Amino acid sequence: MRVLKFGGSSLADADRFLRAADIIVNNAQQEEVAVVLSAPGKTTNKLVAVIEGALKNGEAEHQIHELENSFSELFSAIKAVLPNLQNEEFDQQVTSSMHQLREYVQGMSLLEMCPDNVNARIISKGERISIRLMKAVLEAKGQAAALIDPVKYLIASGDHLEAMVDVETSTENFRTTPLPKEHVNIMPGFTAGNKKGELVTLGRNGSDYSAAVLAACLRADCCEIWTDVDGVYNCDPRLVKDARLLKSLSYQEAMELSYFGASVLHPKTIAPIARFHIPCLIKNSFNPQGAGTLIGQDTGEDKLAVKGITTLNDLTMVNVSGPGMKGMVGMASRVFGAMSSAGVSIVLITQSSSEYSISFCIERAECAEAERVLNETFELEMKDGLLEPIEFINDVSIITLVGDGMRTSKGVASKFFASLAEVNVNVVAIAQGSSERAISAVIPEDKVSEAIKACHETLFNSIHYLDLFVVGTGGVGGALVDQVQRQQDKLAEKGIILRICGLANSQGVLLDAEGLPLNNWRDRMANVSEAFSLPALQALVQRNHIINPVLVDCTSSQAIADQYADFLGAGFHVITPNKKANTASMAYYHQLREVAQSSRRRLMYETTVGAGLPVIENLQNLMAAGDELEKFNGILSGSLSYIFGKLDEGMTLSQATNIAKDNGFTEPDPRDDLSGMDVARKLLILARESGMELELDDIQVEKALPPGFDDSGSVDDFMARLPEADAYFSELSAKAGDEGKVLRYVGEIQDGQCKVRILSVDENDPMFKIKDGENALAFYSRYYQPIPLVLRGYGAGTEVTAAGVFADVMRVLGWKLGV
Ligand code: ADP
Ligand code: ASP
Ligand code: MG
Repeated sequence: MRVLKFGGSSLADADRFLRAADIIVNNAQQEEVAVVLSAPGKTTNKLVAVIEGALKNGEAEHQIHELENSFSELFSAIKAVLPNLQNEEFDQQVTSSMHQLREYVQGMSLLEMCPDNVNARIISKGERISIRLMKAVLEAKGQAAALIDPVKYLIASGDHLEAMVDVETSTENFRTTPLPKEHVNIMPGFTAGNKKGELVTLGRNGSDYSAAVLAACLRADCCEIWTDVDGVYNCDPRLVKDARLLKSLSYQEAMELSYFGASVLHPKTIAPIARFHIPCLIKNSFNPQGAGTLIGQDTGEDKLAVKGITTLNDLTMVNVSGPGMKGMVGMASRVFGAMSSAGVSIVLITQSSSEYSISFCIERAECAEAERVLNETFELEMKDGLLEPIEFINDVSIITLVGDGMRTSKGVASKFFASLAEVNVNVVAIAQGSSERAISAVIPEDKVSEAIKACHETLFNSIHYLDLFVVGTGGVGGALVDQVQRQQDKLAEKGIILRICGLANSQGVLLDAEGLPLNNWRDRMANVSEAFSLPALQALVQRNHIINPVLVDCTSSQAIADQYADFLGAGFHVITPNKKANTASMAYYHQLREVAQSSRRRLMYETTVGAGLPVIENLQNLMAAGDELEKFNGILSGSLSYIFGKLDEGMTLSQATNIAKDNGFTEPDPRDDLSGMDVARKLLILARESGMELELDDIQVEKALPPGFDDSGSVDDFMARLPEADAYFSELSAKAGDEGKVLRYVGEIQDGQCKVRILSVDENDPMFKIKDGENALAFYSRYYQPIPLVLRGYGAGTEVTAAGVFADVMRVLGWKLGV
């Protein structure tokens, strides 16, 4: 014998209702089945709305009308498929239910209240409609069916709205009055009867529990819960897209998961079936072929320490604290006694080991009652200063990890809290049951989505998302977008979803939280109009609970660089080839690092020096290993490397500059290179990285122009005047040549001084051979001397720079994963 329960989601429309009927008929052909039904779709909510309407407005005609319509629509749609569907019993049920509802509404509006016994009768009407309709559908399909009245069979005690079924007495009822064989017996879920024979309900979502107690009373071989998802997932599939379906769960795991919020199963469901070792199968009525999730003896197939992550919302945390708590026997019992007398249920408790405070979570709706009763109970202690005023922290949630295997595996808690920290979640309290099967953290409610996504990514090593917001779509930015487009599929194969969720230039911005399609991004950028702004990006990130947003600044804009601190503070990682932020004031330099650290975000700028060469990373590694930079010199500009190399070959400065300009090796205005400021900025970045506190003004810069050379006017004027500098450089170059040396434009750090200047170097100098746009950087340090650490390679170009930015993006992921 099997018990099959269909939830409201499986009965919400004609198609679903008929699917449920087919599943019942198929099962009934194989063995005896009993069926438990919820109300169709959202019927119970609509019935609750009738009560609210009656109490608030003295009438609820509109709500009742809506219910009537939904039932007749459901019936007609089924009748269209099953023409021999009989309507008498169903019509009678609807008519009498609606008539009663109207009477109750009148009564409630007179009394201005709704007693619990009446409330229970009203909100359970939907289940009554479901069973009549299902009986008619099964009979129309040729399957004999009978109805079970739970008020007679299931004997419950407790509250009218949250009753608990006594399985022993109820089992006896089924034994003395057996159900008719050869019939599918259909029972409305959600209700039972008390000792007085009154109808009581089992708590919202209680039909799962009805099915469990029916299975227990009938000692069924299996209890099947048919719903709208394939089974129990490791996270709520509505919150986490790549949540994984679990093959099996132990009873205890299922209990913890449902208790802490997995709405797929009501928490009371497990106890009755666990007691009689009845396996429980969660199945999808939209996909009956799916294996579902088996709750029972854990088959061990999932082999996971953590089985699932759940969240419970709409809670308030209460802190009772003060010197009077310490060593006072009976304080805890008074606190919880007060809660119990007020009928407030407690979700989670923690106590500080100093005994200074007890904290616990309750449902937010019960906060006012809890406050009243606690203030009353501890009035004297508060007056005497033995207790602090009781603190109520609203809008908190509980996030819980559940898994039998956590008992024997180490490091789960540390990963849990590291994940929460990563998305900047402040943990308000922690609790772990002594079974070690569940560990919970109380967190602010507005961070729940981020928290669950981050924990899922880390603990299940599932898909990792990196969401880029690329500002600047010129050379480097454009090349980066193309590279991302080319790599997306390969990365996806490794479980990394790299998306560009924002693309901005001076014209405007394109945004898409799901990732922009990149095939025609240039055309789409040509038509943008929405202006780029930090608040717009922040709003998108917050709205969509994006946990790894990365700002990639491929502009050379000071204005954007000035916003990095805000971006980092708002939870973005920042990756940039733009030198402006790192060469702004020392105060801003420090501020950026402080914000990055406090918000646990990364600021990456590998490509600001030497383009794709791994300069910053190596220097940082040396410094981290306790090395000290004693001296540095290097060729840091690709364009000046090219121009000075050509001087060796006998070319004049103006010829070399013209060729470099024509080939795109210089900035559009070559004075940006010849002024030496680009090199000065790079040198400053290196100096600061090695621990020096310097401003840009502190760098002594000799231009790559003769002293006093007039570099004013337009680019064309300047280029026309440039040949006047040739003689100076030809002379310098010839003189160097006579000594077996060449001219190089070099950045130097020595004795606390930074200089950018033209230098003659001989063939023993690492710079001697550097030309044609190549960069070379020689670090003389405590560890590297007298032979320096030399990095050399092509130090310019959009493709290599974009590849360097790409590498920074991947490093952010590596840092996140702790590799
Ligand atoms: P029914 O109407 O069948 O009783 P419910 O809405 O009560 O259905 O429960 C099913 C829903 O539970 C799913 O649609 C899903 O969104 C939600 N849910 C929350 N957590 C989980 C989880 N861990 N696994 C599966 N479903 C979950
Ligand atoms: N119909 C009831 C409710 O919505 C019981 C259930 O569906 O489980 O709460
Ligand atoms: Mg349910």
